[in-house]
Amino acid sequence: MKHLLQASWIAPMDRPLLRDGAVVFDGLIRFVGDARKARRAHPDAQSQDLGQAILLPGLVNAHAHLELTDQMPQPLPAGGFIGWLAQRRAPRTEESIRQAVALATQQCLRFGVTAVGDISKFAAVTRPLLKNGPLRIVSYGEVIGMCKGRHRFEPAFEAATDAACAGDYLAIGISPHAPYTVDRAGYVRCRDTGLPLATHLAESPDEAEFLRDHTGPFRDLFERIGLWEDFPEHFAGGPIRYAQSLGLLDRRALLAHVNYADDDELAILAGGQASVVYCPRTHQYFGHPPHRWRDMLAAGINVAVGTDSCASSADLNLVDDLRVLRRIAPDVPAQMLWEMATVRAARAIGQEHRLGSLTVGKAADIVAFRAAGPDPLADILHGDELPGAIWIGGRGVS
Ligand SMILES: [Zn+2]
Repeated sequence: MKHLLQASWIAPMDRPLLRDGAVVFDGLIRFVGDARKARRAHPDAQSQDLGQAILLPGLVNAHAHLELTDQMPQPLPAGGFIGWLAQRRAPRTEESIRQAVALATQQCLRFGVTAVGDISKFAAVTRPLLKNGPLRIVSYGEVIGMCKGRHRFEPAFEAATDAACAGDYLAIGISPHAPYTVDRAGYVRCRDTGLPLATHLAESPDEAEFLRDHTGPFRDLFERIGLWEDFPEHFAGGPIRYAQSLGLLDRRALLAHVNYADDDELAILAGGQASVVYCPRTHQYFGHPPHRWRDMLAAGINVAVGTDSCASSADLNLVDDLRVLRRIAPDVPAQMLWEMATVRAARAIGQEHRLGSLTVGKAADIVAFRAAGPDPLADILHGDELPGAIWIGGRGVS
């Protein structure tokens, strides 16, 4: 079945806004442009006029942990980020993970998110739940294992690389968690799978000290939980050069956060191919100093937005993260902000060939917002409106 959606605005995200346009699609997008031309070229399409509305590509949340959607941000514990990390060690039941994933799916659909770069520590539980849609998922199986916890690496690696659930809706990726939970050998194993790779990097200022001297709050945490055991390697250049030394910047790795980067480190990132995913509300929750996303964009680094998990962000409303950016940087064009939740985010999760823009040949993943004013992309960010409708693979989803 071929559909023709007409609206007062189209934001294809691979080019400027179109006025009075239409998108024609079946499972894939077949036409984007002038509404009259669309009708002439596709008289057989089932037509719907949405009136004062704007059509965008389905939003892409480049960094989330869907299995934590049953949680809520609590007041930041003593020790800040490290104290928060320690709380994440609480055991989970399969049932709670299932409920969290169901909740996450509902939230994504409600907020216009059609694709997610999902980090999953429990891939054997989450992937079967997600593999048949409706969301499109790059499931980065999370791998942890360092010091006395090194034995955890192998089973996590097995689960992460199990491709049994791969399909139209779910791509398999791997996520060595962070430089303070996975050692060099572990990162190399993950890198050498050739799978899409995501890692948390330069999230806290303490990573550099831990890599260099094996001291500081991360060491203290290891000691406290009884897992400390010294290891030979010391790396003096900070987490970004560490990622470079691992070869992660020579490929399309996804670097979550990068909250701490000096000019030299930005230049290193700009010389590579990795994407940075900035999570504005999570960033605020932890009280990090201002993120350098604008400098990164100016340097040519691909920057996307993500929500991170509901343990540090109120919900999976990705547009609320864009709204934070609009408030802190009102001079950045709204189109650029939306790119970070669409075309740039699709690139960050390695799906730009099929997702992230309303482009002929890409998947018909579309979201519609009401658009009464003259500057609809900015107007959405000034209000709190939710999308009116979404389509994934050409099918209306609610
Ligand atoms: Zn995360």
